[in-house]
Amino acid sequence: MKVVIKAEECFSCGLCYVLAPRVFVEGAEGKAELDPKYRRGSPYEGEVPDELAPEAIRGMMTCPVKAIDVEPS
Ligand code: SF4
Repeated sequence: MKVVIKAEECFSCGLCYVLAPRVFVEGAEGKAELDPKYRRGSPYEGEVPDELAPEAIRGMMTCPVKAIDVEPS
């Protein structure tokens, strides 16, 4: 699954990295970042394995400002 975090929209609430900690981590100033294992050139973009798709989707669904996009690779 492709995951993109729109960092400019993230307001550091922490919900995604608390509820989906295998995909998202806390970055600078509390902003969400992708786990370093899955990044592709940016802390905010990458690919997660299929077994983590439900967790990535949970993070997307929980974000109050829809700052996370998840789509099939
Ligand atoms: S849930 Fe959304 S606003 Fe909250 S830390 Fe994650 S990306 Fe940022």
